[in-house]
Amino acid sequence: MVAKFCMSCGSALAAREVDGTVRLACTECSFVHWGNYSIGVGALVVQGDKVLLVRRAQNPGKGFWTNPGGYIEQTEPIAETIRREVREECGIDAVVRSIVAVRDQPRSIHNVYLAFAMEYVSGEPIPDGFEVDGAGFFSPEEMETMNVAEMTRWLVDVALHGRSQGLRGDESSYPSLSGYGLFRV
Ligand SMILES: [Zn+2]
Repeated sequence: MVAKFCMSCGSALAAREVDGTVRLACTECSFVHWGNYSIGVGALVVQGDKVLLVRRAQNPGKGFWTNPGGYIEQTEPIAETIRREVREECGIDAVVRSIVAVRDQPRSIHNVYLAFAMEYVSGEPIPDGFEVDGAGFFSPEEMETMNVAEMTRWLVDVALHGRSQGLRGDESSYPSLSGYGLFRV
């Protein structure tokens, strides 16, 4: 996917050097097309030795069991997005404890995926019937006979056998950082 027109004023884009790198930039205004990116978020909710999974009812990945998740929104903090996604997909309320895994997928739309360890709060797993048509807590033994996505198998291993608490949410006392979502070792 190559951008041809300015997202700000609609004029043609042309290759131009910006801070030492050739980028597509507007020929009429100051807009620079930095690239195509997307950011995904995923939830790892553990109860005992079981991890919350949902079965995808839509493509991509229709029929596969995955951990709940979605894509971030423009102005919503990521910790709220993942909490909302889990609640919407399968009726479980869970809150973010830490960031425990990152997947970097450089491609035409460069995707970065953040996986959150989340604390179960309340609710029974019930699929929304639209995005997902199955939901439940499953052990690795149960997953052996299920159609679990490979990425999810990797994340389940992180959730159950991770050797670190991950990056934990931090309430900073630095005034200029208020309003940022901060996660730290
Ligand atoms: Zn422009």
